[in-house]
Amino acid sequence: MNQPLLKCEHVDFGYENYDVVKNVSMEINEGDYLCIVGENGSGKSTLMKGLLGLLKPTGGLLTLSGDLKKSGIGYLPQQTPAQKDFPATVREVVISGCLGKRGNRPFYSGAEKEKADMNMERLGIMDLKKSCYRDLSGGQKQRTLIARALCATDKLLILDEPITGLDPSTAQDFYQVIRHLNREENVAVLMVSHDIQNIVVQANKILHLKQTVQFYGPAEEYKKTAFGKEFLGGSNGWSC
Ligand code: ADP
Repeated sequence: MNQPLLKCEHVDFGYENYDVVKNVSMEINEGDYLCIVGENGSGKSTLMKGLLGLLKPTGGLLTLSGDLKKSGIGYLPQQTPAQKDFPATVREVVISGCLGKRGNRPFYSGAEKEKADMNMERLGIMDLKKSCYRDLSGGQKQRTLIARALCATDKLLILDEPITGLDPSTAQDFYQVIRHLNREENVAVLMVSHDIQNIVVQANKILHLKQTVQFYGPAEEYKKTAFGKEFLGGSNGWSC
């Protein structure tokens, strides 16, 4: 088995002098599709910030594979209204995913331009490359942001509540795109999403967080747990 892309061993993350997430042990391997679930305030965003390197662990060990250390992680942030109105072309948004590696160079390299083109092709948005991002539909915007995230790395894609604001058929289209990248192109996926009903079908692993890890394992097993049953039964006030 290859080295995990990302591994947490008894990791804590927090702010100032208190820990919000404690004793998390889990790993993401090539081909994994992991969903983090839990109630609001359970620490999902904090864990995600930690995995992205925006917070330092206050305890335990977080290890990234050599590839991820070099390339960083492809991140699809939650869309804010300001981002939705961003006055740039699709191609400019996609290629900006290479910014992390550009350093102080004022221009994108030929290889970066090729990578942006390749990822627009991959997401079926090549014909939109000169369109203004803010004029796109919700689904086209998501495809643009996925292509952008894949410019950073196509090893691991982290998505924060990605279907918020999408209508049901656009959301299904989005899941198909992610499933294709995961199953056919071997992109590992880590997702926080409110949409548990779909997620247990899509993901192969679930991590249920409530400050500490309540469940971590195969999605099939999660469905049989008390947590999984309660949540899938449609209780309110939960988010995946
Ligand atoms: P979730 O994403 O599951 O809703 P969060 O990780 O956003 O949970 O929040 C978990 C806890 O951490 C909450 O009690 C919240 O108030 C606290 N928290 C979140 N962000 C910060 C911050 N920047 N500074 C201090 N506390 C924070």
